[in-house]
Amino acid sequence: MAYSGRCACGSVRLEISGEPVAARQCWCRQCQQIAAGGPTNNAIFNAEDVAIAGTLSHGTWQSASGNTLTFHFCPSCGTQIFGQSSGRMHLKTVRFGALDPNHGLRPEAVIWTDDAPGWAQIDPTVESWPRQPPAPPPTG
Ligand SMILES: [Zn+2]
Ligand SMILES: [Zn+2]
Repeated sequence: MAYSGRCACGSVRLEISGEPVAARQCWCRQCQQIAAGGPTNNAIFNAEDVAIAGTLSHGTWQSASGNTLTFHFCPSCGTQIFGQSSGRMHLKTVRFGALDPNHGLRPEAVIWTDDAPGWAQIDPTVESWPRQPPAPPPTG
């Protein structure tokens, strides 16, 4: 297994068999709402590489691009597990917080900086996008 993870209560578990196609920090308004006012930090994997055990609940929102974004979370403890866009069903956007510590990943891009509050600390050493960048391409 390349990566493993679990929610805070342990009833949802993740096993991921491949490397992410991208790792991004997102400051969009909806991410701030699920991340207590901060950004979400996400590793984007090929969906087929992500195995999940346990029961998830989900909610949806409409993204600015017109796609439906579904966000999946543990119904017992509320931990956000992953998001998936109707326009990119081959990818799963796994929340860093659902991965076991020491996963070694870090955001390589910051997106939706237009929505970030004035106090946000945006890493100047990584690529940043004021809004949504192009989707990462599928791999292998
Ligand atoms: Zn849980
Ligand atoms: Zn976002």
